Amino acid sequence: MPDTVQNNCVVSIAYTLRVDGNVVDEADAAEPLEYLHGADNIVPGLESALEGLRVGERKDVRVTPEEGYGVYDNDDVEVLPRREFPDDMPLEVGMLLSISDDDGYFADATVKAFNEREVTLDYNHPLAGKELHFNVEVVGIREATDEEIAHGHVHGGDIDDEFGWEDDDDEFEDEFVDEDEADDSPPSRFSQN
Ligand code: ZN
Repeated sequence: MPDTVQNNCVVSIAYTLRVDGNVVDEADAAEPLEYLHGADNIVPGLESALEGLRVGERKDVRVTPEEGYGVYDNDDVEVLPRREFPDDMPLEVGMLLSISDDDGYFADATVKAFNEREVTLDYNHPLAGKELHFNVEVVGIREATDEEIAHGHVHGGDIDDEFGWEDDDDEFEDEFVDEDEADDSPPSRFSQN
């Protein structure tokens, strides 16, 4: 058993993430986040700060946008005709959408603005440009299986059951896609998160 956080370990962490002083995400020790260390499962600034820690260790970590969810890119914004959206889809500024292209690849976007003719979508991560402040505790470390290392993610947790990661080894493993909703909706490339 590895006793420090290192590559090819599955690490369980409890954490609180604050942005501008507000809690935006958290996981407690009873239901920690499990991730594969060294596989870009979490933001790089947090991953490198966890390297070498032992179970029970806590750390305050400040992550710059560059080492977090990226700097805000003004070019990552697109204006689409309103008619491309389903008529019955309510739009709201700040709402998150999943958008698929013709090949079935999904991207996440935030509605930045809209009027009767146009909708402005922002493909930047909602936390792009933000400094992240993590208070994190390592609550578990185990060796990853060969299969987990090959896939680049953790197996066997709730996440696998919920999102079907277990058998699905193509690259289409996006937690933001709600397949049930997608089935019900008319053939549209937009779905609401
Ligand atoms: Zn897998």
